[in-house]
Amino acid sequence: MFPIMNKTTCLRSVLGAALMAALGSGCATTTDYVTGQRVRNMYTLDEETRMGGQYYAQMVGELRKSDAPIDQDAARVDLVRDITRQIVSVVHITNLPYKATFVGDPDFVNAYALPGGNIMVFEGIWNPKEGLVRTVDELAAVIGHELAHVNCRHSTEAMTRQVLPNLLLSAFMIWATIKDDDSMQLLAGGLLLGYNGLVVTKYSRKDELEADRVGMMYMARAGFDPEAAPRVWERLANGSDSQFKKTLSIFSTHPRDKLRADELRKHLPEARALFEAAPVKRDGNRKLADILPPPPPKIPAKQKNSGS
Ligand SMILES: [Zn+2]
Repeated sequence: MFPIMNKTTCLRSVLGAALMAALGSGCATTTDYVTGQRVRNMYTLDEETRMGGQYYAQMVGELRKSDAPIDQDAARVDLVRDITRQIVSVVHITNLPYKATFVGDPDFVNAYALPGGNIMVFEGIWNPKEGLVRTVDELAAVIGHELAHVNCRHSTEAMTRQVLPNLLLSAFMIWATIKDDDSMQLLAGGLLLGYNGLVVTKYSRKDELEADRVGMMYMARAGFDPEAAPRVWERLANGSDSQFKKTLSIFSTHPRDKLRADELRKHLPEARALFEAAPVKRDGNRKLADILPPPPPKIPAKQKNSGS
C-alpha cells in the first residue's frame, strides 16, 4: 500500500486535473464540420492532427517490427490511394494531410482511421476467403466510412467525453482507498467499469452508425454506387464467426447484425440522389479479383535481412 501522504498528493493532483479537464472540456465547444451543430471537443484540429501523426508513426513502427509489408504492393496501394483521393475531394474538412497506407497482411480483415487524416487498409479486407470487400464500390464504402470518422472528429470527441468522468471516478477511487472503505472502493471500481463499458460503448456505436451514414454520402458524391455500403455490412452480418474471426477495429464495436445495413438502407434514397448528381461515375462495380494482379510473394525475413 502507498503511504497516506502519497495518496493525498495523488488525490489532489487527480482532483486538480479533473478541475482543469472540467474547465477545458466544459468550455471547449466547437462547430461540427459535418452536422453544423455545436459539439464538445477540447482539441483543436492542429492538436488532433499532431496526435494522429504520432500515433500513426508508432503504428507503422510496430508493424515494421512484425515484418508487415507496408505500401509494397503497387497495384493495391494505387487503388487504395486513388479511391481515398477521390472521396477526399468531397469531404467536409479539406485542409487535413490525408494519407492512405496499405498493409499487405492477408490475415487482418481490417481498416483504421486515425485523427487528422491517416487511413490504414489491411489486405485481409479483400482476401477472397475471409474478406468483406469484393468490388471497387465496396472498398470505397469502407474507405468512405473511415474518412467519415475523421471528418466527424469522433476520436477527439470521444476523448473529450471520457476525460472528465474518468478523472472524477479515479479521484473517488483514491478517496475510497485513503478511507480504507472497501465498499466504496468496490462502488468506485464498478462505476468506472460501468461507465467505460456501457456509456463509452453506447457512444462509440452511435459514432459508428454516423460514420456509416456520412461515409455512404461521401462515396456517393465521389461517384461510387452507395448500394455497396449496406451490402458490405450485410455480408458481415451473414458471415460466420470463424469466417470473420480476425476482424478487428473497424467492425469490433459495430453491432454485427442487420441493424447497420437497415440503417443505411433508410438513407439510401438520399445517397442515390447524390450519386446520380455526381459529375463523375467511377465504374465501381468492377470486381477486385479481376483488376488486381496476385499479390507479390512474401520474402522471408531472414532472406530479406541477409545483407547483399
Ligand atoms: Zn468505424
